[in-house]
Amino acid sequence: MESRTNLFKILFWIMTAFVLLLIAGVMLLIPISSGPNMSGDDQVAFGVMMIAAFFSIIVVAIIGIIVFKDAKKLGMNEWLWILVVIYVPNGLGIIIYLIMRSSEKKKRRCIKCSEPIDPNFALCPHCGHKLKESCPSCDKAVESEWKVCPYCSSQLK
Ligand SMILES: [Zn+2]
Ligand SMILES: [Zn+2]
Repeated sequence: MESRTNLFKILFWIMTAFVLLLIAGVMLLIPISSGPNMSGDDQVAFGVMMIAAFFSIIVVAIIGIIVFKDAKKLGMNEWLWILVVIYVPNGLGIIIYLIMRSSEKKKRRCIKCSEPIDPNFALCPHCGHKLKESCPSCDKAVESEWKVCPYCSSQLK
C-alpha cells in the first residue's frame, strides 16, 4: 500500500512539473516568436492569457488541496485521487471522485476512530474499539440480539 501511494505521488509531481514547464514554455515562446513588434492588441491578448493561466493554476491547486485532504480523511488513496481529479479532462475526474467518495462514505466505519471497517470485524483493527459482542465460550463475534451462539451453541442470554 505504501509503495503504491508513493508511485502515485511521484507520478503526480512528474506530471505537474511537466504541465507547469509546458505552460511556462508557451508563455515565454509567444513574445519571442511575435518579436519586438507585437501590436497593442496582441499585448492585451497575451496579458489576458497570462492572467487566465495564472488563475486556472490557482483554482486547480485549490481543488487539488481540497480533494487531497478529503480523500485522506476518508482513507482513500489521496495521491491517486489528486491525480485523477486534476488530470482526467472535462471535469470527469471530479465526477468519478464524487461517485467513489459517496460509496466510500457508505462503508461501515468505527464509531470511535471513524476508520473503515469490515462488517464482520469484532474489534476495530485501528483503535481496538469493540464493535461486536463476543461469545463467552468460543470467543467468536455474535450479534447482541442473538440468544444462542451459532458457532458453539452455548447460551448467550
Ligand atoms: Zn476504531
Ligand atoms: Zn460460541
